[in-house]
Amino acid sequence: MGLLEGKKLLVTGVLMDTSIAFHAARVAQEEGAEVVLSSFGRQMKLTQAIARRLPKTPPVIQLDVTSTEDLAALPERVKEHVDGLDGVLHSIGFAPQSAMGGNFLSTPWEDVATALQISAYSYTSLAVAALPLMKEGGSVVGLTLDARIAWPAYDWMGVAKAALESTSRYLARDLGPKGIRSNIVAAGPLRTTAAKAIPTFEAFDELFQTRAPLGWDVRNPEPTAKACVALLSDWFPATTGTIVYVDGGFQAVAGKV
Ligand code: NAD
Repeated sequence: MGLLEGKKLLVTGVLMDTSIAFHAARVAQEEGAEVVLSSFGRQMKLTQAIARRLPKTPPVIQLDVTSTEDLAALPERVKEHVDGLDGVLHSIGFAPQSAMGGNFLSTPWEDVATALQISAYSYTSLAVAALPLMKEGGSVVGLTLDARIAWPAYDWMGVAKAALESTSRYLARDLGPKGIRSNIVAAGPLRTTAAKAIPTFEAFDELFQTRAPLGWDVRNPEPTAKACVALLSDWFPATTGTIVYVDGGFQAVAGKV
């Protein structure tokens, strides 16, 4: 029996077949889950095409996390496909160009606000929108790049990730009494569309090659996808408000001899 047999999941953030969410949806289906995807605007057609590469083509609902209309309509749209949800994967991040790439001292507030809204605040918006459908024992999972340290070029996206990590802890506090968990997977750098927005991605790759004791492959989203699936399963029943590092051990070790 698969890890997610009988589970119904909403997976956001499938854009390309490189997307972390694509691989999380694939592993979730392989483990027995019924998956509904979300996408928005001009990306919708792309997501629908990519969805056909999954083991079973899932439905794709419209959800822009900055749209109050989309958030309000979420339960209704999900219910067209499944009768409830056991888990939600938030695999969403965005920052305007001025907020990354070395402009930390001069980024205007409007651009910082956009990064914070889409990359951190939306974690709560999404969980609250999905709450009427969520069952006891349910799980919400998000994705970060370890926000305890300052990275090259990551700038206000790093600040937004710190906010996301904190948001997850507050969500864990408020959803715990309903039997719902909230956890974050801190992935190492992966070559996705979002990563293309980081101008010095090569520097991340080099850092991980020199430090991660298990090594790290920027082209392999599978370990990150598996961690998301594990946290969405029943196998972490007493774990909430925490961060699971999927980074080849990078965060624990200062260097290799
Ligand atoms: P990706 O570009 O494939 O996915 C990002 C997704 O965010 C896209 O599907 C996009 O449609 C969605 N999105 C952006 N604005 C949105 C909005 N307003 N409403 C709804 N969706 C919106 O890239 P990815 O690397 O798979 O990113 C997924 C998550 O993983 C992000 O939170 C990212 O920050 C995080 N992460 C990525 C890396 C990496 O190196 N790629 C490392 C650690 C964490």
